[in-house]
Order: sequence, then structure tokens, then C-alpha cells
Amino acid sequence: MTLPASVTITDVALRDGLQIQPRTVPTDTKLVLLDALLAAGVRSLEAGSFVHPTKVPQMADADQLFRALPQAPGVEMMALVPNLRGARRAVEAGVRHIRIVLSCSEGHSRANTNRSVAEGIEETRQVVELLRSTGDVHITGALATVFVCPFDGIVPVEQVAHVVGALVDMGLDEISLSDTLGRANPDHVRRVVAVMRKAYPEVAFGLHLHNTFGMGMANVMAGVGEGVVQFDAALGGIGGCPFAPGAAGNIATEDTVFMLEGMGIATGIDLERLESAAKELQKALHAPLESAVSKALGWVA
Ligand code: ZN
Repeated sequence: MTLPASVTITDVALRDGLQIQPRTVPTDTKLVLLDALLAAGVRSLEAGSFVHPTKVPQMADADQLFRALPQAPGVEMMALVPNLRGARRAVEAGVRHIRIVLSCSEGHSRANTNRSVAEGIEETRQVVELLRSTGDVHITGALATVFVCPFDGIVPVEQVAHVVGALVDMGLDEISLSDTLGRANPDHVRRVVAVMRKAYPEVAFGLHLHNTFGMGMANVMAGVGEGVVQFDAALGGIGGCPFAPGAAGNIATEDTVFMLEGMGIATGIDLERLESAAKELQKALHAPLESAVSKALGWVA
């Protein structure tokens, strides 16, 4: 296997991580966590999502949070946007990096956004048009339930290719493939990534992995082996989808950094400084973290 010299880790703790927490973290605390992540060398992150505030109250402060973000040149601070309404709010809040999310499976699409996959594609087209008309916004795509759907089971790879093709038609060339449930295994990841990269060689595919069944690091290696150089991960391994029953935490940023740096693949993230960020997170959640590295190294706040 030829290993890449470096990969980008996008920390999604402030979005995917916090969206399922029973305790809503105040905006000021989110900003403290964000500073700690930046200090550790994180240069790509999801800071929040513009979803309906009553559906996901943990993200209700997205407008306020994005307005308060520090100026950090060279840092990609992304917001997740599921629909037109969210896109309008994000533009008003001055967001420069937007990830549009849509599901590849009908069951999750209905549960998460109350629309079919085809309606999701159509609304995404309108979101892209709106964002392009408002100027300088960097638009990327995030596909949920690429591998397994909590309602429909294994998602056919042709269905994923169909949704990817629609995004490519809209001009998107960065697409994150999500194992929303954390049920994929390395062979499944390898096969789907290989098909997508062959069908759409112009697209930079990333992977968004959950560790529900302990497959996270093995799935990262499967992705790396297929040429993927962007991975989503969350500090502390926190996270999960409120509309995907059974989903557990994201792969942990510290576990991913530990493994990749140990193999000589640069991430730009400093493990020792991540410890400070992890301790801030423990204080914010009033709970210990579940990641392998935080337990192995005794990161206790
Ligand atoms: Zn996720």
C-alpha cells in the first residue's frame, strides 16, 4: 500500500459531536473549544449546522456562533446546511465554507429531512444556485448513509453513484462520504471508494466515519489505501446522528492522529496539545471521553 505524505483531518466535534449531547453547550464554551482545537493545529473543522432549532436545539446558536468566530487565516470553518432555509441563515451569518448535506437512502432522507432522495437533490441544486449568486462561498457536499441506512439496510453503490453524479453536475468537486451509522467494514469502504474514484476521478472524496462497531481505524486505513486524504473525526470520539437510531460516536481525532502520525502520515495536529482541548471538552460535557487515546494516556480533566 502506498501511503500519502499527509492527510487533512476535519474536526466535527462542535457539530456532529455536540448535536446529540443531552446538555446544550453554551456558545462561549464552544468558542473555548474551538480555540483549543486551533491551538492543537486543527485547520479544518465543522463549527455548527444550520438546521431547524427545535429539531436540534444544540445547534440553535449557529448564527451567533459563526458571527463570533475568530479570524483565523488558512482555517476552513465549515457549516453544515441541509436545505434552503439553512443556506439563507448561513449566508446571513457570514459563513464562507458550506457543506451541503443530503442522504443517499430514502429512509434516512425521510427521517432526517422529511423529503425523498430526489427532492433532496433538487433542493441541493437550489442551495448551490443561491450560494453561487451570493458570491464567495466555498461549497462542498456531504453524503449521509453512503454505506448502511438505519431504515433501508445496505445502500446499493449505484444509488450512491447516482447522488454523487448529481452533485458533480452541480459543479461540486469535494464530496464527503459518510458512514452515518458506523456499520461499514473496511472491505465495504474500500469497494465504495474505489467505485466512486473510478467513476468520478475529478472529485476529491473524503470519509466521515463513526466508530459504533469499532471499525473506525480499520476503515480509515481502507480509505487511505484507496487514496482518500481527508477524514472527518471528532475530539473525544463524541457524536452521533439524532435521526439515525443506533449511531454512536465519530472516530476520535486523537485516535486518528495517533495512528496516522505513528505511521509517518502528517496531520498537522499536535497530540499533546489535543490533550488540553480534550480536557476542555470533558469540562463542557461533565463526562469522561471514550476515545482509546484519551483512556490510554489518562486524559482526565
Ligand atoms: Zn456523523
